[in-house]
Amino acid sequence: MTALQFTGLSGDSRQVDGDTLESFAAGLEGTLARESDDAFAEATSIWNGMITRRPAAVVRAGSTNDVVRTVTFARDNDVELSIRGGGHNIAGLSLSDGGLMLDMSQLRTVTVDAEAKLVRVAAGAILADVDRATQEHGLATTLGFVSATGVAGLTLGGGFGYLTRRFGWTVDDLEEVTIVTADGEVRTASRSEHEDLFWAVRGGGGNFGVATELVYRLHEVGPHITGGLMAWPGNRAEEVLSTFRQVTDSAPRELTLVAVRRNAPPAPWVPQELHGTPIVLVVACHSGTSEQAESDLAPLRALGDPIADLVAVKDYAAHQTLLDATMPKGNHYYWKSEFVPGLSDELLETYHAQFADLAAPANQVTLFHLAGALNEHPEDDGAVGNRDAGFACVAQSMWTPDSPAADANREWVRTAWTALRQFSTGGNYVNFQTDDEPEDRTAESYRGNLARLREVKAAYDPTNLFRVNRNIRR
Ligand SMILES: Cc1cc2nc3c(=O)[nH]c(=O)nc-3n(C[C@H](O)[C@H](O)[C@H](O)COP(=O)(O)OP(=O)(O)OC[C@H]3O[C@@H](n4cnc5c(N)ncnc54)[C@H](O)[C@@H]3O)c2cc1C
Repeated sequence: MTALQFTGLSGDSRQVDGDTLESFAAGLEGTLARESDDAFAEATSIWNGMITRRPAAVVRAGSTNDVVRTVTFARDNDVELSIRGGGHNIAGLSLSDGGLMLDMSQLRTVTVDAEAKLVRVAAGAILADVDRATQEHGLATTLGFVSATGVAGLTLGGGFGYLTRRFGWTVDDLEEVTIVTADGEVRTASRSEHEDLFWAVRGGGGNFGVATELVYRLHEVGPHITGGLMAWPGNRAEEVLSTFRQVTDSAPRELTLVAVRRNAPPAPWVPQELHGTPIVLVVACHSGTSEQAESDLAPLRALGDPIADLVAVKDYAAHQTLLDATMPKGNHYYWKSEFVPGLSDELLETYHAQFADLAAPANQVTLFHLAGALNEHPEDDGAVGNRDAGFACVAQSMWTPDSPAADANREWVRTAWTALRQFSTGGNYVNFQTDDEPEDRTAESYRGNLARLREVKAAYDPTNLFRVNRNIRR
């Protein structure tokens, strides 16, 4: 095997000779892939096409033992290590230039214990793998809105979705993590074992090691829910958002609503003559009875004359894929988020002002309703914090790789975010941070939990081996 040039832990370039690489690869159940291999191309093709970093090599892990070997190899050879789950991180955190990527995506086993209401998930699984397996038993844990997202990356940053109002952050249902730490040890962390490590991984990202398995508590949800989207012309946005606020103020936790203003996509549910024109959307997921859903959604339905009303009784697992097509892999994406406590008049005014004369086809600001169970935990119950969040407010832009509007789109997101930031709780979602966010933003995500996170980091990863992430260090 020929030698490879890697990026070292101090940013310098270092060569690993062919014999060392060969003996490393020979002990793997998975594979070591180089740039010319198909596996390399697959693993390094990630959701946000804007990220162009390229590692020197990829390990496709086939077992926990491969993870131990890879962590040990990276540490002993002073090689920068990145970890890939679902490849969905907006900042492209699974890729480091010249580093070694540990690709977990082949490890996707999901095992449900319906009686104990627990699910054990291998760290390469995507959300769809888990929803599919748990829904066979009418059970679910809180996962996100787009089904190809990696379970591990979502969970380690905190995690939220349609069930957050009922059950809290994803990490509030996390029972146990198996994790390979920088010393190459395989540890089980839970509320009763390595409690400090467990506390830290509940929001602290990939800073503490490589998670190989995660165990979640399950709840009875579905298999049928009432869900879908409703849309109105943009000139009715103020009226719709006002009703959205009224419904979210009093809705039972079974109902989660998401509001979006943007220009209409060329989707089948939008009449052709309205493509590209301003619209306002509300996405609903009601996990109570269909009668309760009808009654809770009545104020939105009473608005009348929608462009589309696709809200219907359907499978929860199908609803979990509703937004997949809106965010296709390979396009370029730029987001900024803040958590806000509620929707004041001033916030909504500022929100609406962002859409005067908006021409971009896919720029939007999304308001995810979160308030409920997550607010009932103390701020230091897990590193995730942000227990005062009522909504996630996310300015988002998407464009095709050949679009000349990249700079204008980024600028629009920054402008909208800057205007809306004054309403923030002071926290933002670490999993929505883009490549250009400064370190301060990570500190802002963790707020009062940062000091303890740094202590746990120093204890478990004193040399900052796990640094290709939203990094926590002293
Ligand atoms: C279209 C889209 C929709 C989204 N919707 C939601 C949503 O509804 N709710 C929500 O909470 N989030 C959502 N997110 C954010 C998402 O949770 C983060 O982007 C997350 O990082 C994706 O995880 P991944 O495994 O796919 O990412 P990857 O890019 O594969 O990994 C990202 C980082 O996570 C860490 N990581 C991943 N796997 C491991 C592991 N096994 N051990 C240790 N560290 C690991 C590493 O630091 C890694 O670099 C969404 C993202 C996208 C792109």
